[in-house]
Amino acid sequence: MSVLFFAETEGGQLKKNAFENASYAHAIAGQLGVAVVGICVGAENADLLGTYGVEKVIRLKNAGLETFTARAYADALAQVAQSQKAQLIVLSSSADARYLAPLLAVKLGAGYLSNAVALPTFEEGLQVKRSCFTNKAFQISHSAQAVNVISLSANAFGIHENSTNAQVEDQEIAAETSKLQVEEVSKVTGQITIADADIVVSGGRGLKGPENWNLVEDLATTLGAATACSKPVSDLGWRPHSEHVGQTGKPVASNLYIAIGISGAIQHLAGINTSKVKVVINNDPEAPFFKAADYGIVGDAFDVVPRLTEKLKAILA
Ligand SMILES: Cc1cc2nc3c(=O)[nH]c(=O)nc-3n(C[C@H](O)[C@H](O)[C@H](O)COP(=O)(O)OP(=O)(O)OC[C@H]3O[C@@H](n4cnc5c(N)ncnc54)[C@H](O)[C@@H]3O)c2cc1C
Repeated sequence: MSVLFFAETEGGQLKKNAFENASYAHAIAGQLGVAVVGICVGAENADLLGTYGVEKVIRLKNAGLETFTARAYADALAQVAQSQKAQLIVLSSSADARYLAPLLAVKLGAGYLSNAVALPTFEEGLQVKRSCFTNKAFQISHSAQAVNVISLSANAFGIHENSTNAQVEDQEIAAETSKLQVEEVSKVTGQITIADADIVVSGGRGLKGPENWNLVEDLATTLGAATACSKPVSDLGWRPHSEHVGQTGKPVASNLYIAIGISGAIQHLAGINTSKVKVVINNDPEAPFFKAADYGIVGDAFDVVPRLTEKLKAILA
């Protein structure tokens, strides 16, 4: 028996969520007294998973898996899960993993528990705490299935070191080919992605126009942060849609989220309320965002943000 986890990659390197999945799977395997096994596709730095207690990593080398397609990945993971006698398969809650996890569960005839925020317990079957209603509430879900797929909410467990040596086994398996052919992937380069960022600086309609985005960018550059925005800002074309966060945009689970000139509508908060510390800068003391904030500055963004950036530059220098 084993606990298997999927370590996602980007550009041949493990993504941050691979280390959180490894830490979570290692903790569960410890509870159950079984092995923890990682699976990745072509990660050059797969041995790094040893830092998080993983002794065995299966690195798939199939040519057909170079680009993510849910059907082919689900087939490959299902085969590895069966060969490793996995009773639990851990995935992240990334956009790719949200496609992949239900397909994988169907292939394995497994239970599927999304948005897990804590370690499961195993008294009668499996119980795990999950977030629901866009993180407004929690529920404890129960599965009586022998095999289960869990997707872990970003930053819910954290990354924990447990250094060991990981044996990386290269494998090529006959995986189903996808009916979908990905011809080209265009990605913004040289920027920290919202999903991987520890700090996100986000701007709303209060910034009046795209010509003022240097305020957000200067603060983000100073902090080594990703930039984001509210929905109207991307709808107006002030910023790319890839930066839109919220219920209909990307979820953000950063350690620090700085919201500038954003009112704090429920649909925006739905995407950011798993971020750990929220700082709000708004000139309206009644802005709803202040109710969700850990720290708030009531003031004009055009006055507050440059001064904050200058102070931070001085401190960080
Ligand atoms: C089905 C549905 C889904 C949606 N999904 C999303 C989503 O995913 N993400 C999202 O963001 N929204 C979403 N929305 C829209 C959401 O309801 C709000 O309309 C939107 O979040 C408001 O964006 P905003 O805060 O940038 O703008 P506004 O509501 O216009 O707020 C601007 C804020 O800036 C402040 N401000 C103005 N001038 C200054 C200044 N000089 N200095 C400091 N502060 C200033 C104001 O006090 C105000 O609080 C959705 C709506 C619907 C109906």
